[in-house]
Amino acid sequence: MKLLTFEKDGAPRAGALVDGKVVDLNLASRALMARHAAVFELPERMEDFVRGPEQVLACGHAVVDLVANGAAVPGWAVRPRDQVKLLPPLVNPPKIICVARNYAEHAKEAGLEPSQIPILFARFSATLVADGDPVIVPKVSPQLDWEGELAVVIGKPTSGRRVSRAAAMDYVFGYSIFNDVTVRDYQFRVPQYTAGKNFRSSGPFGPCIVTADAVGDPHNLQITTKLNGAVMQSANTSTMIFDIPTLIEHISDFIDLEAGDVIPTGTPAGVGFKRKPPVFLKHGDEVAVEISNIGVLRNPVRDEV
Ligand code: MG
Repeated sequence: MKLLTFEKDGAPRAGALVDGKVVDLNLASRALMARHAAVFELPERMEDFVRGPEQVLACGHAVVDLVANGAAVPGWAVRPRDQVKLLPPLVNPPKIICVARNYAEHAKEAGLEPSQIPILFARFSATLVADGDPVIVPKVSPQLDWEGELAVVIGKPTSGRRVSRAAAMDYVFGYSIFNDVTVRDYQFRVPQYTAGKNFRSSGPFGPCIVTADAVGDPHNLQITTKLNGAVMQSANTSTMIFDIPTLIEHISDFIDLEAGDVIPTGTPAGVGFKRKPPVFLKHGDEVAVEISNIGVLRNPVRDEV
């Protein structure tokens, strides 16, 4: 199931993508529940959908299957994809915990050694932008660089437990695409990533969350980043250094994961700043990150005004 968040009357609403159309899960469930025993009223917000019990996910599947098979729902519950304004699939994740240097070739191109322990840094939800929204070149630096990444979305709280590698995947709700856009001089001029990784409008996330059952093996997905149509990054998630269970085990050593937390799992080789000459994002560009079985996250680049 492909889940997304869209804007309606200024508020975020949970939707599912069905045959190129956006289905409002709450409105569609309300229209279908009288006639279908498996359907009850679904939440309006994706946060509540993700943190809901198993029955919520099952009911979501039932609604999507009914709509896909032609069940009658009112027109206001289903809109063509190009007529809705998408938001990040989770507009305010409790935590965004990013992984640095998780692909050996990327560490090498950056002139850095791969680490024996996952290197993590925090990104704030205020940096998130939706599919189609602009990434902004800040006035203070021209060194805006892309990092296409697989993002893990947590669906179940770890609640004080240290999660073993063997149990870790039970905590995953689904997967999305993240572009960990970075301002390189701000990243490297101090020994700490917070500023360089948290510029305004630097966190493209989306367009969808694909539920774990529909992604297949998350460690065998192709990531491709294109700048104005030219391939800049192309790698398989099988080449991650620390796989998803290892990351969840490591993070749960020190903090509880909650439903809706997002873990961008690191970028492969092919970023802009170590190219000769370096390539940075500039006004008028389009950067697109595609991950097999998930979709394409596409953003224009604009100068700060
Ligand atoms: Mg990154």
